[in-house]
Amino acid sequence: MFIQSIKISSRFKYLIIICFVIILLVSCYFLLQPSSELPVSSSPDSLHGIWQTPDNSIVENDTNPKQPNEEKKYIKWFEFNVSYDVLTKTSKLDIDSHVNQEQVQYNWIELIAYLACKYGNDFDQFKQKDLDNLVEKLKNGQTMEDLSKDMKNYAYYLEGYDAVLHEFIGTYQKEIKNSEAEYETVYALKAFHPVAKNYAYSHYDDFGNSRSYGYKRLHFGNDLMGSIGTPVIAVESGAIEAVGWNQYGGWRIGIRSFDQKRYYYYAHLRKNHPYAEGIEEGKVVQAGDVIGYLGMTGYSVKENVNNINVPHLHFGIQLIFDEVQKEGPNQIWVDLYDLVDFLKKNRSEVYKSNQETKDYSRKYQIIDPTVPQ
Ligand SMILES: [Zn+2]
Repeated sequence: MFIQSIKISSRFKYLIIICFVIILLVSCYFLLQPSSELPVSSSPDSLHGIWQTPDNSIVENDTNPKQPNEEKKYIKWFEFNVSYDVLTKTSKLDIDSHVNQEQVQYNWIELIAYLACKYGNDFDQFKQKDLDNLVEKLKNGQTMEDLSKDMKNYAYYLEGYDAVLHEFIGTYQKEIKNSEAEYETVYALKAFHPVAKNYAYSHYDDFGNSRSYGYKRLHFGNDLMGSIGTPVIAVESGAIEAVGWNQYGGWRIGIRSFDQKRYYYYAHLRKNHPYAEGIEEGKVVQAGDVIGYLGMTGYSVKENVNNINVPHLHFGIQLIFDEVQKEGPNQIWVDLYDLVDFLKKNRSEVYKSNQETKDYSRKYQIIDPTVPQ
């Protein structure tokens, strides 16, 4: 009896050890889940700490052997808060003053950065008279440099808003409608809406909502509900950086802007036929090109599976001030709701260019001077 009880207790001890090891392994598995392209991130409460070096120790530790000239500052966090109303008004000032060759030409990104400083980046406080006063001062010969010299966050907002909007307005050549490949040079909105012209879609402000698939993640983009097969348009010109299956995004495509600061992410593309003709990694696309078709793929480890409930395009823009921000936990994604609405002013018309493959192409070409030849 005594011997038997010793046996049981030592067996019990082994059981406890085995259980402990199992619990340890399971918790390790959950803790070390690979990060998706859209992990949870947090925003700081204030502007404190927005400028950071890749390695904090370089600035904080004087005894660090690294030379101070190795220090590289970059924006660690940025919130794109400018409203549809302000995007519309400032872009009009910029475009009209250039097109009409007015004496004072406005830069909409500077106007936005100035207003962001004035309102602490809360554009709900926008008042028309603030923009009118600013424009009046610029008209009277004051420079943006003078006007912003006491605004300590002006450089930050300018860099942040410029990182998003840098290529949205500019000079490019546009094919004249109903002509035989004739082009005109325009100064205008250059970025396109992600959904082709004449295709219906609906969306709401879903940025930062929580999602249920996989581990706890927030929603870092804008979902555009539409019919399966709706042609998806490249918003900005760039090089294709990622194409193929992703557990969360399904058939997805990632396009990097030429200045490397924006990563455009289009996900949940159509099952069986997700991409437009010729889409492959490394290829350069122009703003307005058809890149793929709306679908409902994703939320599956297995490829080519429709696991999304409602067909939609997930559209995201990630800001990259330093390459260390591309992957990992400190990614910056833009709240795109107002920007997507703003882009309705420029939608790409498409037609079925290949009857056999049922592929679509853009109807009117552009020549974007920023595209490397
Ligand atoms: Zn989404």
